[in-house]
Amino acid sequence: MARGRCHPHALLLLLLAAALAGAPPGGLYSPGDPLVLLQVDTLESSVLNSSSAWLVEFYASWCGHCVHFAPIWRALAADIQEWSPAVNVAVVDCADIANQKMCGKFGITGFPTLKFFKAFSKSPEDGTKIFHPGDSIQNLRQSIITNLEMHKETWPPACPPLEPASVEEIRGFFQTNNVTYLALIFETNESFLGREVTLDMLQYENVAVRRVLSSEEELVKKYGVTAFPSSFLLINNGTFSRIPVQMEARSFYTHFLRRLPGVTRGPYMPTRAPDTPIKTTPIPRKPADRSKVYMADLESALHYALRVEVARFSVLTGERVRALKDFVAVLAKYFPGRPFVQNFLRSVDRWLRNVRGSRIPYSALKLVLTNRKEGQAPAVLSNNVTWVGCQGSEPHFRGYPCSLWTLFHLLTVQATRHRRLGTDPLEVLGAMRGYVQSFFGCRECAQHFEGMAAESMDKVRSVDEAALWLWSRHNRVNARLAGTATEDPQFPKLQWPPPELCHPCHSVVKRRQVWDEAAVLQFLKAYFSPINIFLNYTEPETALVVRRSREAKEGAGEWAMGVGMEVGGSERRGFSGPRKPSIVRMNPKMQELEEDIVDLDSFSELHYKSKALKAAAVAANKGHQLSKRDTIPLLLADDSHQAFDYAAAWERLRQRGLGSKQLIGALEEDEGDTLRRSHWFRMLGVGFSHLDVSLCIILYFLSSMCLLGMYTFFRMRTRHRKGRPSFPTA
Ligand code: FAD
Repeated sequence: MARGRCHPHALLLLLLAAALAGAPPGGLYSPGDPLVLLQVDTLESSVLNSSSAWLVEFYASWCGHCVHFAPIWRALAADIQEWSPAVNVAVVDCADIANQKMCGKFGITGFPTLKFFKAFSKSPEDGTKIFHPGDSIQNLRQSIITNLEMHKETWPPACPPLEPASVEEIRGFFQTNNVTYLALIFETNESFLGREVTLDMLQYENVAVRRVLSSEEELVKKYGVTAFPSSFLLINNGTFSRIPVQMEARSFYTHFLRRLPGVTRGPYMPTRAPDTPIKTTPIPRKPADRSKVYMADLESALHYALRVEVARFSVLTGERVRALKDFVAVLAKYFPGRPFVQNFLRSVDRWLRNVRGSRIPYSALKLVLTNRKEGQAPAVLSNNVTWVGCQGSEPHFRGYPCSLWTLFHLLTVQATRHRRLGTDPLEVLGAMRGYVQSFFGCRECAQHFEGMAAESMDKVRSVDEAALWLWSRHNRVNARLAGTATEDPQFPKLQWPPPELCHPCHSVVKRRQVWDEAAVLQFLKAYFSPINIFLNYTEPETALVVRRSREAKEGAGEWAMGVGMEVGGSERRGFSGPRKPSIVRMNPKMQELEEDIVDLDSFSELHYKSKALKAAAVAANKGHQLSKRDTIPLLLADDSHQAFDYAAAWERLRQRGLGSKQLIGALEEDEGDTLRRSHWFRMLGVGFSHLDVSLCIILYFLSSMCLLGMYTFFRMRTRHRKGRPSFPTA
């Protein structure tokens, strides 16, 4: 056996383990787990040119299936802990912003991805994908052995031979090996038992294990083997006996062999980071109201979907190009974003529409996504990932998938507000389906979703039905996941909306609780309406533009694709506190705009929205009766006694001419034009609200009309008088 060669590895791996002790927790795994937590600075150096084979799980902490899979992977690592240093088990959290590029380099496009790296692998491409049918530990163990055997030319020095023993080898075994015991495991060709026990005993000295196939007749006869599997213990004094176990099983064999007199465990320590307290700065909880939608979640979803998920593909081809074009087209059309975000989506959409052919290198798309093209109008999408309504009680709960659902619902509801004759009812659902199929990193989630879509999406006949279809399918997913490991205990997976949010959505027919779909639709339209989107924790757009250009000037060059991802206390740049409306500080030098400057759009949105909402809530509290048809009583989470009518409040605000769309109506125009107009609006609006500005314009218009009227009147009168005989003429 090659046991003597273990020691240098042991030292190396101990060092690695020590280095990793201070590493941050790997999302779903912690340093106490019996596996190696790899990250950007340790992945390549550990896995490539290593004398061990490595089995690495690339996962994303937000991915539901990774959460389900984590206990299996942990159990597998514990189960084969003794196979180290022949095989090491590791994990990498690809959701961690620091690791994203590295995961891309290793060709990871979905999660979880399991890769086997043979010993002395040279490059990331050398990793072989391991499929995990049935997700059972046994399947995975066998898959490792199969992969090990496929790479005979790069056999890990610490790994004992796994091939079946021959008569000759057994005959001269004790002459060539300095051990007291040899265990022979007789088995059929398909059985993995002998190889598993061989690897289990890898770290034990004074004993060797060999498998013997049932087809090896001479040995079968010599030892009188009658059943497969069965095992015999040969001692170097020439004696042998059947290994006395109650069951011919792996654990019984290893238990027996490890307790033989003179058998000791070698000095090698498993590759395992010692238990250390997890050092994380907890992310401060952001107060969020469950009856609201937060722009921070939506913008984070956009950023993550376009700049992280899509970026996993170095070249987009065929179906993926189509899926991206459709998705971005729908976003550009329906996303009720802040002006610069809408500019951003429109410019990406325009760029994609001009792409000829069906091949897009991501490097080209990246220029558009990071707004690095010269002469572009301010079109920015923050690269901060900030969860507010989607913040989980732990970093691996909620986050991205939550925000993606929210974005999808919002889009289906927006489509109902923009309906036109001939609108394809599947426009949004189709785009969404394509995105999930092509890019959503949680591959099993995508498969489940595709199953639901294939079953019934084509039955949708109208945009209203599309919004309801998504709502009901999301509820199916909620029902399937309720009570599983992906459920955040603080956010149980409910059939949504619960009665506290929408009482009329729930009705009882023949003592059975059923949904009132008309009420649900009305609720969805109110809940996912722009008026219910709050800007808390978003970075002001003007500050974003300034930051973006400052970073470009300072040579940071690349608008990092995910700066400030909120992972276990990592720092985020930019504005972090709740967005407090403040009086706009006008400064002609845009460069000097800092975080305390809030653009007028956001300010008035927040200010008037909250005023109007408060007024509506007070009215509702006073028993203000709203017409049954228009009313969707929503109970606010923080004041469950107040029935609140979002739809009516929205309508009132709409009548008062408020809303981001109205403010930047010029968005329909050219982008440069848009910039000028929005600046004009800002200059006009120093200290005034939109309403004030609108009233000024109306008054100005009325007084001009009045003056014109007076002028016309006096002019007519003068002419009339001139025509009379008594009127003196010049
Ligand atoms: P989410 O289910 O993410 O909901 C987000 C928010 O949407 C909620 O907070 C609520 O405000 C609102 N909401 C909830 N239900 C509805 C509804 N019916 N209609 C409208 N709004 C609603 N995880 C898995 O483990 N397995 C899967 O197969 C899987 N498939 C997925 C498929 C897709 C397309 C997506 C986007 C995600 C999938 N996920 C899956 C993730 C999972 O559904 C959740 O997103 C994740 O567990 C986070 O849950 P959450 O508690 O934040 O609420």
